[in-house]
Amino acid sequence: MTEELGACPECDALYRRRRLKRGETARCPRCGARLYGRSRIGPDQMLGLVTGALLTFIIANAYPIVVMQVQGVSNSATLSGSIVTLWTEGRRLMAVLVFATTQLFPLLDLLAMTALLSVAVRMRQGGATRPVWFAPLLRFLQSMRPWGMTEVFMLGVLVALVKLSNMAHILPGVALWAFGALTILLAAILTFDLRSLWDENGS
Ligand SMILES: [Zn+2]
Repeated sequence: MTEELGACPECDALYRRRRLKRGETARCPRCGARLYGRSRIGPDQMLGLVTGALLTFIIANAYPIVVMQVQGVSNSATLSGSIVTLWTEGRRLMAVLVFATTQLFPLLDLLAMTALLSVAVRMRQGGATRPVWFAPLLRFLQSMRPWGMTEVFMLGVLVALVKLSNMAHILPGVALWAFGALTILLAAILTFDLRSLWDENGS
């Protein structure tokens, strides 16, 4: 299993896949394109990062993202509250887009990574074998990645904020800072090369 063949995505040159050291990147010998890499941090540390991101996600959704002042009266809104407002105002497509990009996709991604990394850590410690859902879930997660989670996520939050600021004078709430922190965490999590998880074979 150590000598697997692969083709360069840029120039189709064939290469032999080898096991990399941490932080190492394999490049195409012909065109220099990045072929695959092994992240600097292992699955156990990445699991800690993902858990932190999940907690930040809860804070970001539990606290108000903005405090609105309408005619001298303060009102606070959470992100999910803002999505409901968009929906009831008839901006349904926008409500669905903001919901998908700021809630559904990041949550699915983080939960899937938690499951996969937990298995990878247990396999590395020995004993555990790869569960049947491991391969389909990993493929699903890889197929979702080209969506550029962080950019789309930030865009979703921005769209919600711009819509709200049209309606009222707004001040940033606690959740806005949590969303800022979450964006940084998500960016760090996305540096993890999911393909390295295929190498975890329980041996
Ligand atoms: Zn190449």
